[in-house]
This record gives sequence, C-alpha cells and structure tokens, in this order.
Amino acid sequence: MVHSIADCFFPATGYAVRPRQGKSCFMKTKTSGSPALSEHGFTRVELTAVIIAVAFLGALVLPALAKGHAGSRTVVCLNNHRQLARSCLLYSQDVNGRLPNNYSLPATETAISTGAFDNWVNNIMTWGASASLDDVSNTNVAWAENGPLSPYLHSNISFFKCSADIYLGAAQRQKRWSARLRSVSMNGFFGLTDTNPSSLSGRSWAEGGKYRQFLKTTDVPIPAMTWLTIDEHADSVNDGFFIVSATATSWGDLPASYHEGACGFSFADGHSEMHKWLSATSRYPVKYIFSTRSFDAAGRKDFQWYKDRLQLIHSGFVILLTFVIRVSSFPGHPFEAVPQNRLVSFQFVRLAVVAERDAHNPGLWMLHDPN
Ligand SMILES: [Zn+2]
Repeated sequence: MVHSIADCFFPATGYAVRPRQGKSCFMKTKTSGSPALSEHGFTRVELTAVIIAVAFLGALVLPALAKGHAGSRTVVCLNNHRQLARSCLLYSQDVNGRLPNNYSLPATETAISTGAFDNWVNNIMTWGASASLDDVSNTNVAWAENGPLSPYLHSNISFFKCSADIYLGAAQRQKRWSARLRSVSMNGFFGLTDTNPSSLSGRSWAEGGKYRQFLKTTDVPIPAMTWLTIDEHADSVNDGFFIVSATATSWGDLPASYHEGACGFSFADGHSEMHKWLSATSRYPVKYIFSTRSFDAAGRKDFQWYKDRLQLIHSGFVILLTFVIRVSSFPGHPFEAVPQNRLVSFQFVRLAVVAERDAHNPGLWMLHDPN
C-alpha cells in the first residue's frame, strides 16, 4: 500500500519505479520478466504522457478556476456597493432627506480626533504603519464601525472594502497586517464636505464652489445616472471623498480597475454597476505611489463616461426676497394714548432662493431652497 508519493522512488540505474521496502507501488516496472503486481510501474514514455496530460488539463482548468474566482469577487463587489447606496438612502429617510457627511481629509481627521465620528467613513487609508491617526485608522475597526451608516449596515464594515483590493504597504506587510479596512469612496459632489459656509450653502468644494453640492437626496436630478460610491485605486485612496476636476486631462483621484479592467460603482437610486475602462491611461497596476498619465483618446472617452454620471450643475446666485407682512393692528381709541409700536406691527419675512442653471441644459434654470 502506498502511503505517500515518497514511498516510490527512481533507482540509480534503469527507469523502473520500485516500491520501498515493505511498501507497494501502483506503478509497473519494466525490468521484471514476470513481475508481481507490486513491481508494476510506468515507462518513462508513459510517465511523460501522463505529465503532459496533467499539464494540459491544468492549463484548461486553472484559468477557468481563476475566472470563477474573479467572477465571484465581482459579484461581492457589486453587492457591497448596492448595500452602501441603500444604507445612504435609508439614512436620509431618517434625517429629513439629508445625505451623510462626506468629509474631505482635514474634516475627516477632525471627526475622528474629536470623537464625533460623524463622517460616512471614519478612516484615512495610507501605506504607513506608524502611530499617527491616519495610519492607525487603516485598521481601527471601532472607528470604522462608529459611522452614521453603521446602523443601516448592521455594523458590517466589509461593505467598505472591495474584495479584489488585497494590497498593503511595505511597513504594513512587515507588521503582518492582514488588510486595510476600506477601498470604497464617495462621489465628492455628495454630502457636506466640511463646515465652511460655502459647503453649508450647497456649493461644491471642488473648483471654488462652481458646482452644486448634493446635500439632500432630492437635490440629485437623475439618481439612476449619478454615481454615489466607487472602488478607488489603492494608490489613490485616502479620505472617502473622490474628486476629479471636470476639466482634468488625467485622473486626479484614480478609479480602480481590479475587475479585469472594470471598476465597481453604486448610483444614487440604489443600483450598482461594473464599468470597464477602455484606456491604459485609466487602468494602472498598484505601484504604492500615486502617478497617472494624460488621457489618450480612449481615456478621454472613459472620463466622459464618468463626467456624464456626475450631473454637474452650475451653482447659481442667491435671490433674497423681502416681504413686509402686516400681521396685526390695534386701532385703539382715538383719544387713548396707544404706543406706536402697539398700534401696528409688521413682520419682515426674508425668503432665500437659489437659482441654478443646468450644466447640460443652459436654457433651464431651477430654483431651490438652500436650507
Ligand atoms: Zn471592486
């Protein structure tokens, strides 16, 4: 009985395969004239044929297995994005339609250091492993679980991580970390960016407030065509705020392309999609340092696809309308001394309206309440 492959061996001369002392071998030997069953072995030609057959089958099966694995990671990624988008929508229903805060880097650090944990993600991804707040946040589960979306995700922070993002920095590998906690970021035109007056009034952090910031779900003009979350590339991800200038000639923040050149997205209506990038100027291997090249023709098409799903709206101007409303009067007796301010009182009502022009339809102006 062969107990292991080590029980069989090639002798120094000839090419028979014999069992070790006290063991049997399933291979037949060429050297015995009338061999016992235990002395049977393959010839070298037969062995070579078997090896070739196994290699051939491996070549057929392994890519299929790898593809199956990649396919399952794609399914998981799509589900993660869908869960995140739906958690945002559920959250908004509980807070008068407002979207969760989507802080840029300094405001995210403040949210963590003050213990407010009021950002949609309370961590900043880095390649470092020091004791700094940013580095610690790579793996701090308690901070990650403390965000406003947690109740809607049953505190499952795995939704924030694309399963195809398996990357760790050199210092992190040295410390035997298993994973960074997040690879997903949010569209930088969603949620409150910081507490500056410009952001509070619904103007974008990007490009000097040129575009409208979607602070409420009702601000989003075409939810099914407006992306909400994205797989951000491991060399690019830091805060959870993904932004690229509308006039960029190369990616600023960089989308991932882990899924055979495709990137996972969710949209503001709650659905998720994989989008395959056309250009090598959109697809980069992880290099542990951020660098991108200018778009080529295909890259410009990639970026146009991305921009078409931003729904950029030019920030308008604020119209202040003042009304004077007579709310009460006291005619009083003509001979009675009635203080003037009790005779008639007025209330001044100020109504602010923001007028905005649709970026895709310059002839269309919209009015909305900035509060
Ligand atoms: Zn993914």
